[in-house]
Amino acid sequence: MTIKIEKKIKGYQVVKPEDKAALAAAPVAEAKEAPVAEVIQMHESLERPEALIGSTFKIKSPLFEHALYVTINDIVLNAGTAYEQRRPFEIFINSKNMDHFQWIVALTRILSAVFRKGGDVTFIVEELKAVFDPRGGYFKSGGIYMPSIVAEIGAVIEQHMKNIGLIHDPEMTDAQRALIAEKRAAYEQAAQKKTELSPTDADTNDSAGFPPGATLCGKCNTKALVLMDGCQTCLNCGYSKCG
Ligand SMILES: [Zn+2]
Repeated sequence: MTIKIEKKIKGYQVVKPEDKAALAAAPVAEAKEAPVAEVIQMHESLERPEALIGSTFKIKSPLFEHALYVTINDIVLNAGTAYEQRRPFEIFINSKNMDHFQWIVALTRILSAVFRKGGDVTFIVEELKAVFDPRGGYFKSGGIYMPSIVAEIGAVIEQHMKNIGLIHDPEMTDAQRALIAEKRAAYEQAAQKKTELSPTDADTNDSAGFPPGATLCGKCNTKALVLMDGCQTCLNCGYSKCG
């Protein structure tokens, strides 16, 4: 084989037989030295350990006669290494109410299969939370709107994923928190003056510390939206219609 040299030759070295031998041995030595990480990945045939750790959440919905108990069990991958990771492995939902048995079993089997498949499983939270019941949703204590029971199962999985560090809340900056607190104080002061004038107007619904009469925020689904200076402002997440 001939090689055409187009650049100027600036230096050269004669390849000796021992150099050739060293070159041939080098890549092998390199491969041996490379750190071999024993990373366990999620896949369908990953054997279930005898015992798994998990959490059980209780869901009480006006759409359901009995409470639902949602159990999510986790598997700890690569325990004790830098790759240690806790991931959901299976989900069970129990209830005295047998009316919904069919779809609950189907949902839990599919969710467990998705968990075991590996990769990013956090997307199912948004999928479930977007499900709405055509008969109408309901408010949980705390003023959070749940569009359906499936959405609440999604919210429970989200809470669990936050607990195990799979989902992180978007960090609110101190400045944002201070701004919300400031707006809230101003609103409450104004509201207090109003109730002093007409105490019968005072609404006594449970809204988890948000002013009575607050409406539903479209961003965080919480009854915390109040009108301030002619502008809808959320006292929970800081959303404001006027930017
Ligand atoms: Zn909000």
